[in-house]
Amino acid sequence: MKKFGFLVLLFVFGLVFPGYSHAAVDTKIILDGKEIVQPSDAKAEIINSKVMVPIRVISESLGYGVEWKQSTSTVTISKDNTAMQMIVGQKTATVNGSNVNLDAPPLVKNGTTLVPLRFIGEQMGLKVGWNNTTKTVTLVTQNSGSGNGTTTPPNSGNNGGSTNEEGLVLVNGISFSDNRFFIATSGETKPNVFTMTGPDRIVIDLPNTAFADSFSEGQALDSNQNGQLVVSGYPDVSKIRYSLYSNSPSTVRFVIDLSSAKGYDVQNDSGLIMVDLNKQGATPTPPVGDNGKKVVVIDAGHGDHDPGAIGVTGKREKDFNLAMALKVEALLKKESKIDVVLTRSDDTFLALSERVKIAEKVNADIFISIHANSGPAAANGVETFYTRSTSKELATIMHKYLLQSSGLKDRGVKTASLHVTRETTMPAVLLEGGFLSNKSDEAALFTESFQNSVAKGIVAGIKEYLGIK
Ligand SMILES: [Zn+2]
Repeated sequence: MKKFGFLVLLFVFGLVFPGYSHAAVDTKIILDGKEIVQPSDAKAEIINSKVMVPIRVISESLGYGVEWKQSTSTVTISKDNTAMQMIVGQKTATVNGSNVNLDAPPLVKNGTTLVPLRFIGEQMGLKVGWNNTTKTVTLVTQNSGSGNGTTTPPNSGNNGGSTNEEGLVLVNGISFSDNRFFIATSGETKPNVFTMTGPDRIVIDLPNTAFADSFSEGQALDSNQNGQLVVSGYPDVSKIRYSLYSNSPSTVRFVIDLSSAKGYDVQNDSGLIMVDLNKQGATPTPPVGDNGKKVVVIDAGHGDHDPGAIGVTGKREKDFNLAMALKVEALLKKESKIDVVLTRSDDTFLALSERVKIAEKVNADIFISIHANSGPAAANGVETFYTRSTSKELATIMHKYLLQSSGLKDRGVKTASLHVTRETTMPAVLLEGGFLSNKSDEAALFTESFQNSVAKGIVAGIKEYLGIK
């Protein structure tokens, strides 16, 4: 794990943020316009593409009590009726007793605990932002009225229509999978899409837009607001470039560099733009869910720079999740009454909100997110999470099959406020297929026989729930 972390750091500092040197980076944290004094040897920094911030100084500046328990590596932050607990190295935190998934596990640096900036924003009700040019974290309390943060709150934008103070729609994130390019925005925008030749490329201009501060949490953006997404495994596409193309009117431009001219289809609604390169010639591919088919979205958790849990022997959760999703997909493709859509089909990264948007966009009938767990070495077994009561029946059925097909210990069906099961509107569950932190679970999870059995179980659960014989 050490070695992996080091390689990732080299990658992040050397390639994704070429402006970084290996010398200590002097970052700043500004809370309501005032700089917070940070521990000199554990300042805010980008680790694995996530902005991590020292929790103690921020919490104390906001009037929270902070307690550190060495024996369990637990940080407890409390104020009024709110208590949050985070454990170093674990991606699940608790907020007033409910589980909350973190973008990245808290870590200790020179005696200071660093936690993901996004968590601070979501759980402390702050507007958060990261300016990659000035290496500055901005935090704005909601009742401070100073309002100089431009990041939209994580849960806004579901219905489109949210803009920053200048009236610009913000580009929150991008992803490329299944030969489809997705752009997530904070609201509606009318993309102008056209092709150019010599070399062949597709240009997507988004009028009246700017990059959200949080965009650079997921993608590299240099000081001139340029960057690129390296695409591998798709012969038609070499890379996708992006830039703030114009300042007046503010326009974000994406360019898909092609190996040869290619047809495409553009769909745009609810803050998600999809440029689909799967279109062959002049015949559009039929939309998913045609002819009364049920649409099943399978979501392989984590991806790319976000490995998820790391197993006792160093195996990565993202690889298990993807292997499972691909096996489930292969089985579902044989079902004539089901259309299957994967949120990712390779080792790419998507924000949680983008996974939700994909499910909403294709009008999924059900959403199933596949993960593996991490915890104390003794913890083992499978569990199934849901958030909304309309997902309970799906959770119960899926768990029954997950349990049977895995042969692992039963940890039960549980409720938790997880982004993908909370923000989706169709029945949605998150399956935890065993603990990578447990030696025997980890060994089982990476065998073909286990994966094939659980994939069959997941498909059987889906068919029972959808009433497909
Ligand atoms: Zn996970």
